[in-house]
Amino acid sequence: MSPNEFELIRRYFWGLGGGAVIRLGIGDDAALLDLPPGEVLVTSVDTLVEGVHYPEDTFPEDVGYRALAVAASDLAAMGASPLACTLALTLPAPDELWLQAFSEGLAQACADCRLPLAGGDTTRGPATVITVQVFGACPANAVLRRDGARPGDQVCVSGTVGDAAAALAILEERWHPGPEAAAALLERFHRPAARLALGEHLRGVATAAIDVSDGLLADLGHVAAASGVAIALASESLPLSPAVAAAGERGRAWALGGGDDYELAFTLPAGAVPPEGCTRIGEVCEGAGLSVDGEPADASGYRHF
Ligand code: ADP
Ligand code: MG
Repeated sequence: MSPNEFELIRRYFWGLGGGAVIRLGIGDDAALLDLPPGEVLVTSVDTLVEGVHYPEDTFPEDVGYRALAVAASDLAAMGASPLACTLALTLPAPDELWLQAFSEGLAQACADCRLPLAGGDTTRGPATVITVQVFGACPANAVLRRDGARPGDQVCVSGTVGDAAAALAILEERWHPGPEAAAALLERFHRPAARLALGEHLRGVATAAIDVSDGLLADLGHVAAASGVAIALASESLPLSPAVAAAGERGRAWALGGGDDYELAFTLPAGAVPPEGCTRIGEVCEGAGLSVDGEPADASGYRHF
């Protein structure tokens, strides 16, 4: 790395580290993180490629925020407490305006997700590629996995679903809601909230959990397959934001098939009360596969919205 590149890291990324967990952060050959005694390390990595995972005209602040938030969502889905993150950045050129804005968005996500930056790698390459690795901790016996759903469990989801798919329809000019609704949906898409506090709360409470990144049906399909059960959903119980509800059948398709909401979908033993902000949307049954309102359903049937 040239002195110039090191200066860029010092300028834009050094300040995002710190905190009790990082014993040694940016500046040495590797970082040292303290793991709470008796807990296991939970780690996940996600890559965003410009033009593939986000449009080239996305604000760099939003790219920085989203890159960390989507990775952090995987920690939430495991019930892990956030520890720290690392960033591998490939850029065609050291564009300081881009770096300044990107690092501001990333800093906001580091604060919101409680994930200080412990290190990274910076390289020059033909396209902008952002890889974020996240580290969390959880008592080994409390990790939320996909394979624990049992017949009789309730199926729940946090927040509202279909918002990110609705935002994509706005960005692609396929749908034109009012300006206020559009602004709220676009904010949801660009600044997803990793449900870390909910994930921690669900430890020892939920029997299985997943984050909604590919779409509610696709992701609950993973839970059903891993757990060896069937899942039956009731479409009238899907929690929708008002504009998505007003979109009728299209809104329902966004809620069931659209990805990128980064809410948590999870199963609870019968009789448990869903946490605040979460909605019961169905139940776990004997068998295999997914159904909606009694009709067999799979993710592929809901991709055409
Ligand atoms: P090495 O050559 O030992 O791999 P580097 O020159 O790649 O080290 O990085 C020097 C220091 O800067 C390391 O501590 C590394 O973690 C940190 N670093 C490099 N790029 C980034 C980045 N994009 N974000 C945060 N830290 C970074
Ligand atoms: Mg390196």
